[in-house]
Amino acid sequence: MSEQTIALVTGANKGIGYEIAAGLGALGWLLGVGARDEERRESAVAKLRAAGVDAFGVPLDVTDDASVAQAAKLVEDRAGRLDVLVNNAGITGGMEQLPTTVDVATVRTAVETNVLGVIRVTNAMLPLLRRSRAPRIVNMSSSVGSLTRQSTPGTEVGPIAVAYAPSKTFLNAVTVQYAKELSDTDILINAACPGYCATDLNGFRGVRTPQQGAAVAIRLATLPDGGPSGGFFEDEGEVPW
Ligand code: NAP
Repeated sequence: MSEQTIALVTGANKGIGYEIAAGLGALGWLLGVGARDEERRESAVAKLRAAGVDAFGVPLDVTDDASVAQAAKLVEDRAGRLDVLVNNAGITGGMEQLPTTVDVATVRTAVETNVLGVIRVTNAMLPLLRRSRAPRIVNMSSSVGSLTRQSTPGTEVGPIAVAYAPSKTFLNAVTVQYAKELSDTDILINAACPGYCATDLNGFRGVRTPQQGAAVAIRLATLPDGGPSGGFFEDEGEVPW
């Protein structure tokens, strides 16, 4: 079996996911570029290859069982196993998210991608991850999912958002449950906050670059054996739950 480390990044056609793929690819890894839109996926793969990354496209809509199953088959056929899964794909669900007036469909949409999508992809990839010597899973969360920060007056956590922010709280909780179940395996699974980065997600209002946002995910994807699992990290260290 190949010694080259094999990673899959979801939502890797642009933004932070693209930079995670570029950063891991620069380590000489084989990079699966998970993305649903064919044109954007193939242009990201071409750009990564031009930069010297050993990248291949993985058609993937994290909300679709059949798409996720096909993605797992494609990774298996291509590489036989998976070493690192970065669950990066995410959406805000839309801008109008005041709890008292929200359309519940907005909440459902955010949870479907940001939480159920992560569970769906993780479980489909787990058989391949279990074949790795040192499997790592990184879930791209956000500090807006920190209930401690949300309830600490004066802490900057963005606008009131009953879909997006709680979907990341939910994702954090899911990450902890996975870590508990997988605690007797070599799999390390952690949640990451990239900071406020200028991407499509926020109309490019973020103050950090997507490359800066990718750094914490790259660190968690390359954790040594015995590293943390079930944690929530940003560049400066642990994020309070
Ligand atoms: P972005 O530029 O909008 O990228 C989001 C990516 O997710 C895109 O590639 C998008 O693909 C993909 N995606 C969305 N729904 C998908 C689905 N159903 N199946 C597959 N892919 C899907 O946003 P970003 O800022 O880089 O966000 C990346 C992650 O970081 C998200 O989880 C986000 O919540 C998190 N985050 C971002 C910030 C920030 O300040 N930017 C802060 C905290 C956390 P399409 O091109 O097909 O839509």
